[in-house]
Amino acid sequence: MEKRKERKNNQSSGNIQANINRRKSRKLRGIIVLEIVLIVILIGSFLIYSNFKNRHNGNDKITDQNSPTPVVDNKDNEEEKLSPEELEAKLEQERIKRENEERENLIAEAEKLTIGYDYDGAIEMIKAYQGPEGGYDVYPVLKSAIDKLIAQKDALLLYGGSYTSPTQFNHVFFHSLIADNSKAFDGDYDTVGYNMYMTTVTEFKNMMESMYNDGYVLVRIHDIVKEAMQEDGSTKFVPGEIYLPEGKKPFVLSQDDVNYYDYMDGDGFASRIVIDENGKPTTEMILDDGSTVVGPFDVVSVLNEFIEEHPDFSYKGAKGILAITGYEGALGYRTDDPSSPTYEQDKETVKKVAQALRDDGWELASHTWGHRNMQTNSMSLFKADADRWEEEVESLLGPVDIMIFPYGVDFESTMGHYKSEKYQYLKEKGFKFYCGVDSKPWMHLKDEYVRMTRRPLDGQAMLEFPKRLEDLFDLSTIIDPERPAKNW
Ligand SMILES: [Zn+2]
Repeated sequence: MEKRKERKNNQSSGNIQANINRRKSRKLRGIIVLEIVLIVILIGSFLIYSNFKNRHNGNDKITDQNSPTPVVDNKDNEEEKLSPEELEAKLEQERIKRENEERENLIAEAEKLTIGYDYDGAIEMIKAYQGPEGGYDVYPVLKSAIDKLIAQKDALLLYGGSYTSPTQFNHVFFHSLIADNSKAFDGDYDTVGYNMYMTTVTEFKNMMESMYNDGYVLVRIHDIVKEAMQEDGSTKFVPGEIYLPEGKKPFVLSQDDVNYYDYMDGDGFASRIVIDENGKPTTEMILDDGSTVVGPFDVVSVLNEFIEEHPDFSYKGAKGILAITGYEGALGYRTDDPSSPTYEQDKETVKKVAQALRDDGWELASHTWGHRNMQTNSMSLFKADADRWEEEVESLLGPVDIMIFPYGVDFESTMGHYKSEKYQYLKEKGFKFYCGVDSKPWMHLKDEYVRMTRRPLDGQAMLEFPKRLEDLFDLSTIIDPERPAKNW
């Protein structure tokens, strides 16, 4: 009995101890949970606060500058909203758009070349394209642009179908144009000469307009032949391949004595060739009060204006040939006179003007230094003249291979192959193109040179030999009403 009581006592004292322990541990758990909740709340508040602070940091300065409303950077927010994948896709889209535009622009640039019939150049331009995926042939838009250009090129005809050989092409020529008729035709002693050998700006424009409407297209004399390599390594001239739309007619144009000689001063002509603010060659004229004005006063500037309005009048940017003597300098600059105060400066200017002319599609030619008859000139004078032109003029113009005979008189009277010592001398100087004058076009295409005659389109041709121009013009629409009647 005692033992049982004792056990019972023992039991009950053990229960009390267990109860106390249980209560203690429950209290402890409550405290821990509370602590965890507090920590979570604290961390949460800190995170929310620091996030808020970060977002609004950028606006603090704006707020400081008394901005009434905080400015929100929408773009940043938008980008924040995009996932990295979305952002990448967006940038990729922008890149594709940019590259598509780049290819469209390339096609547009290439198509501009075709206005001047340069289909090969246009095709080459597109074929040179390199994109991120590879060459032009991995881009369907470029491939189809090339297919279109090839189809257009295939529709062209050799010499426009108008001729079977370049020997049938016209080569027309002019002297300085009369820009002020009242001064040139003022009745003084040189009025007759101007009436015979010059063309007015009005007539020149009428002629170009008429030729353009008839399908004529300007080509370079260097386009009408090409030097083909032979099996033995030598070269020989063969007809050039000029492809034009059906009905177009290639022709060459030249201007003699582009020197603006002293005798023309005050007679209504341009005074020199200058470079305009765009780097293009143009012409300058001296007014009565001594001031100068730039404008369309001679072949270079009038033809350039016309081609700007009618770019399809020029094959691959061709212009005309300018033939230059040396006895009064070149292009309106007195580079023949070492005592001139502007001698050195003028030489530098002529170099720049000559380069600007070449860059603009013009070709340059020799018209001899002293404007002598090359057939009657003695061999020693002939050589001295050629040497002097090379030394004083070609040194400024750069290499020239076209010779335009003064008075249109060839150094040989033969109609066969050139064989004279004079020819040998000019050949050694690098001349390959020889141009005389005739009423009808004719051309000799030899292995080592080209001989091409030219038709004058001056007052004498219009007033004295109108029948010779019948195939080219209706002269009633060409002749300047201010030109005097035939007075020689
Ligand atoms: Zn001349």
